[in-house]
Amino acid sequence: MGNKAGSASCGAAAKSSRTLTRLAARLRGAVGRCIADYRMISEGDRVMVCLSGGKDSYTLLDLLLSLQRSAPVHFELLAVNLDQKQPGFPAHVLPAYLSSLGVPFKIIEQDTYSVVRRVVPAGRTLCGLCSRLRRGALYRFASENGITKIALGHHRDDIVETLFLNLFFGGRLKAMAPKVLSDDARHIVIRPLAYVTERDIERYARGRGFPLIPCRLCGSQQNMQRLAVKKMLAAWEQEFPGRTESIASALRRVELEHLGDRRHFDFAGLDVGRITGLTDEAMVDEPL
Ligand code: SF4
Repeated sequence: MGNKAGSASCGAAAKSSRTLTRLAARLRGAVGRCIADYRMISEGDRVMVCLSGGKDSYTLLDLLLSLQRSAPVHFELLAVNLDQKQPGFPAHVLPAYLSSLGVPFKIIEQDTYSVVRRVVPAGRTLCGLCSRLRRGALYRFASENGITKIALGHHRDDIVETLFLNLFFGGRLKAMAPKVLSDDARHIVIRPLAYVTERDIERYARGRGFPLIPCRLCGSQQNMQRLAVKKMLAAWEQEFPGRTESIASALRRVELEHLGDRRHFDFAGLDVGRITGLTDEAMVDEPL
């Protein structure tokens, strides 16, 4: 009996370890492809990986460390966490984890929590100011430390949610690019998890046993609009599996001439036979 139970649990452990290995290989492939597609990392880059203690940033760091070992180019990784002095923040967790990995890291301490609490009127959401202060601190550190790329842990689902948030509440067709110039135009921000789903990240983080730090320490409510969009996408996905991926891939196949933004397409200059980039052959192939 004892032996049977023992071998059953060994079998289950071996199966879950094989599943994790397969998932890791798939995620490494997706991140590697994303980095190559957008030429995110070049020889000699100093990449700052922003770590919050959440599943996304742990996964990002883990996959970048793994890719660094086999990458055809040499680049450095520096893990950076901003300790915002939220009450109850377990300040020992990240240093202990990062030391155990042997990865270079820096914990920046800045009490943005008190600033946000003092400045934002009661009942208003804290996240806007909090993220601006966080970005400021991280960009400042990047400038002072010769960082050439800033890696963030946003994944495919964050990107699609942002698209709908901008669409519904901002009247703009705008998401989050896998590679973009920072707001201060002094840094290149990269999102190597842009092809990775949140579900896969959840499974990976669970499998790898990252020491997660809860994200609601600040006491702020989760952004209600984002929550609503998240629910909408989950409901769609359930009814039409693959829809989120279809939306994500649409962001990589934009047809500006079929939208209406005069800043990005010369509608005024449009003339027969002058469609930029179309060869005679392509024009013949166009459906009537
Ligand atoms: S949830 Fe809290 S820590 Fe996160 S951005 Fe909002 S206020 Fe800041």
